[in-house]
Amino acid sequence: MEGPPTLNGEPHIGHVRGRLMKDLWYRYSTLSGKNIVFRGGWDTQGLPVELQAEQELGLTGNKWENLKKVGEEKLVEACKRLIIKYESSWVEADKLLGLLIDHERAYKTYTDEYIEREWKYLETAWEGGLLGEGHKVVAYCPSCLTSLSHAEVSLGGYEPLDDPSLYYKVKAEDGSFLLVWTTMPFTVVTDELVAVKPDAKYLRVRVGEETWVVGAERKDALAKELGIKFGEVVREVKGSELEGLRYTHPLLELIPGLMNLARSGQIHRVVAENFVDTSTGTGVVHLSPANGEDDYLVATRRKVPIFSPLDDEARFTEEAGRFHGLFVRDADSLVSVLLKGRGQLVFEGRIVHDYPVCWRSGHRLLWVVRREYFYWVDRLKEKILEAAEGVEYFFDSPRNRFLEFLRESPPWGITRERVWGTPLPIWACSECGEKTPAFSRKRILELAAELPDGPDFELHRPWIDRIVFKCPKCASRMHREPFVLDTWHNSGSAPYSSFTDQEYRRLIPTEFLTEGIDQTRGWAYTLLVLNVILGGKPLSPYRAFLFQGHVLDAEGRKMSKSIGNVVDGLQALREYSVDLLRFYLAWKSSPIDPLSLDAKEMSGRPYQVLNTLYHIHVYLSQNGALDGYVPRRHTVAWARRRRRLSLVDRWLLSVLAGVEKGVLAGYRESRYNEACRAIEQFVIETLSQNYVRMTRGELWDDSAETRERRLGIFATLGHVLERVDLLLHPVSPYLTEYLHQEVFAGKASWKIPLLVRGFGRAKLLRREKKLEETVAAAILVENGCNSARTKARLKRRWPLRAMYVLAPRRTAAALNSTKALVSTLCNVKVVRVTTRPEAFPVSFLLIPNPTKIGATFKEKTRDILQAVRPMRGAEAWRTYLAGSGVKLRIASGPIEVPPSAFDLRFEQNENFEAVEKEGVFVAVEKTRDERLVAEGLERDVARRLQALRKARGFSPTALLNKASVAGLEAEEVALLMPLKKELSFLVRAKEIQLSTRKDDREGDDEWYEDELDGRPLYLKVD
Ligand SMILES: [Zn+2]
Ligand SMILES: [Zn+2]
Repeated sequence: MEGPPTLNGEPHIGHVRGRLMKDLWYRYSTLSGKNIVFRGGWDTQGLPVELQAEQELGLTGNKWENLKKVGEEKLVEACKRLIIKYESSWVEADKLLGLLIDHERAYKTYTDEYIEREWKYLETAWEGGLLGEGHKVVAYCPSCLTSLSHAEVSLGGYEPLDDPSLYYKVKAEDGSFLLVWTTMPFTVVTDELVAVKPDAKYLRVRVGEETWVVGAERKDALAKELGIKFGEVVREVKGSELEGLRYTHPLLELIPGLMNLARSGQIHRVVAENFVDTSTGTGVVHLSPANGEDDYLVATRRKVPIFSPLDDEARFTEEAGRFHGLFVRDADSLVSVLLKGRGQLVFEGRIVHDYPVCWRSGHRLLWVVRREYFYWVDRLKEKILEAAEGVEYFFDSPRNRFLEFLRESPPWGITRERVWGTPLPIWACSECGEKTPAFSRKRILELAAELPDGPDFELHRPWIDRIVFKCPKCASRMHREPFVLDTWHNSGSAPYSSFTDQEYRRLIPTEFLTEGIDQTRGWAYTLLVLNVILGGKPLSPYRAFLFQGHVLDAEGRKMSKSIGNVVDGLQALREYSVDLLRFYLAWKSSPIDPLSLDAKEMSGRPYQVLNTLYHIHVYLSQNGALDGYVPRRHTVAWARRRRRLSLVDRWLLSVLAGVEKGVLAGYRESRYNEACRAIEQFVIETLSQNYVRMTRGELWDDSAETRERRLGIFATLGHVLERVDLLLHPVSPYLTEYLHQEVFAGKASWKIPLLVRGFGRAKLLRREKKLEETVAAAILVENGCNSARTKARLKRRWPLRAMYVLAPRRTAAALNSTKALVSTLCNVKVVRVTTRPEAFPVSFLLIPNPTKIGATFKEKTRDILQAVRPMRGAEAWRTYLAGSGVKLRIASGPIEVPPSAFDLRFEQNENFEAVEKEGVFVAVEKTRDERLVAEGLERDVARRLQALRKARGFSPTALLNKASVAGLEAEEVALLMPLKKELSFLVRAKEIQLSTRKDDREGDDEWYEDELDGRPLYLKVD
């Protein structure tokens, strides 16, 4: 089931990453043999779309001004236009990305069919007593002119904002003054009570001629902050003793509504309440039930009437008298001025504190009492938690975060005071207040007393608002409640609303969902709540939910319009190779972590992986063609039957088996980065750097007797590449499909797409762990040998007489079993492997390194350096291998110096050059044997000529007239001269011509340019 993108803007790179993960799962599951239904879906209603539409209509005012200008119908039209416009961008991006999704059957949350199914949730909740009307102090955005749910408040987060910090005093009936602190002076207008903490200490303290009441805990801090000299403490009282004390509101006569209430005697007294925080302000807080959640709760519990003189635009009404017409936050300064005029302002400063802002407009939120419809989610908490606990989240942190959030489960205010949304289908009597719901078009038609747009009216405002019911109680006119649903209700209802009843039963719970980490408070939450409401059972509509980290810029900064670092999704998909972009996004970091997008990085290692994979396919294709390799005939099974698999082939197949297991687990467990890293290492190191190099020598040969052996190599390589194409397919579908079709699907009957072929069962793949260890040891020794050659300036091409390897027992045994391979890899005639340092031709020392010891042992260094001595031979070898430290006794007691604090040194040796790699010591004989060098050169030249005659299409038995080699060094020509006859036999040519410079008279095009030791070597066969 698609998590519907909101069609109010273009996709950015973060969306691309999110959609890639959906596709990874889709392709992986399909390749695993599952039949996946994945239909698109679009979130099309609600505040984000409506605000964007206002913008595109060029409207800049608030909701009421805008509606007056254009009317509801125009606005709705604009919303629909917007949806069409952005849908095409998103579909194009999905196409470029290669997302396998059925856009033709995509759901759209604004269609009548969808709306009617969405109402099913409301109906179920209404019947179960879970949907109802209530008043509540809600977060309210004065710019968007709508209330926000708890989840939406969390979405916007908090920002450090500057506010007034106002201290004022109010006079109590006993003549003392209560010192009060507020950061929202406008709330003084709606002030009804003053609260203290029941068991906290309060002081009655002299200030000049007056007695003030302040929290004991805050007295000293206040004296400092306000510059007040507190005098004698008259009395110390507990907060509870102050309960009931009446006070006079300082601005009462300016606020007629408040004055009316005050006459009743229910307000303007001290209450003792536990929520009061005595560690800030004065320890005395004033309560404005109309503008604070806790305040409201206290007032309703104590049956104190609420004074809320605010209109829909958060402006004071007539009841607020002197403040009438002012937007609430604009009243802050007037309150301060008026308090000052009355001598009741004690101190006015500024404070920077974290203040919640609107997720949509960035405006600071207000708390106001609003009438709303609620789902009483708190009553379902246990079921919701149970449903959530059964879900797979792949990672612990988002799971904990999500469950933590669900434990709060406050009532969910589902109504919004906007135009473009799923209407709340409840009608209310204008006279007696009776409520009549109608949760389907059919029911509306049955109840309608006036139906001005006929029976086929659109289920949206303004049309649905024109329908009038007759009150069953008093026969007055009933109008629809002027609310639309929270847009999160739309998307959260997708499991039922986007499918038919039958599909819902068959497809829900859906297997896998993935969205941004912020959706713990968004879609993941509403899906869960709504499914529990609909089914009445603790069942989640999804089995697995992968939360994703966000995409950041290369410097790790959040992408935002203000910084201008947002990467447009469509542009990125057009600019870069999609396969490369996909690989990079999957490879770079774990799905749960943020990803810092760096295009330079993308063209590094990720490019190398895809490029290498491509070229190995070409290599197989070209070389295989020369020997008549047919992928479907020359399979690994075939090669095994013919006994044409070498140790190296078996090694590669075994390593692949391990890689497959790791990659598939990576996909299954949503660790895509690990899957990609495993493929990366296999393609670049195992396949390209090792296997291709290790078998290249055998492929140079072109004789008929060894053809089957070469086919064994092609069979191995072919099998491995096909598997890699499959394994990488979810990440880079275009390239892998292309390579598969080009290289392996030669005949039409084999042109089956990879997705259809699937992973299948890989019977041939068995791991041979011991063999892997053996070849790994050989490769390690080869690395050592190469390092030693570099130190001794011995070209790799030159065959050497002898090499010694000193290795731990297990490695030595492995190397002894594969000496021929080691000898070939290292290009050394004789390989001697030993476990005894005495048998190693170069002596070595372990010398304490003062710097390293100093870094670890600080002031003990001198003592240690005096006590420790260099080690040599067997002792050094043992210490080096053991990994445990050298035990010493110094003045301060026994101590252990780790091996890492020692340096390994080889002593100069005339005949050998030695190095160490991962605990294996390698020594190569330095003496250059002219005969061997000549033989080696002969072999290198012969191989190149053989490869060329093969490539030029000469049959293996054909005799060449002449084979020419140019670009040799004079010394090399001299070395080869005596071997000319042998060379002509090897390459089957009547004549061999060797020269330092190529003869250009015959034209360049016949020469084939090869290379030797990194310089050009020219070859020609006639
Ligand atoms: Zn807003
Ligand atoms: Zn009525």
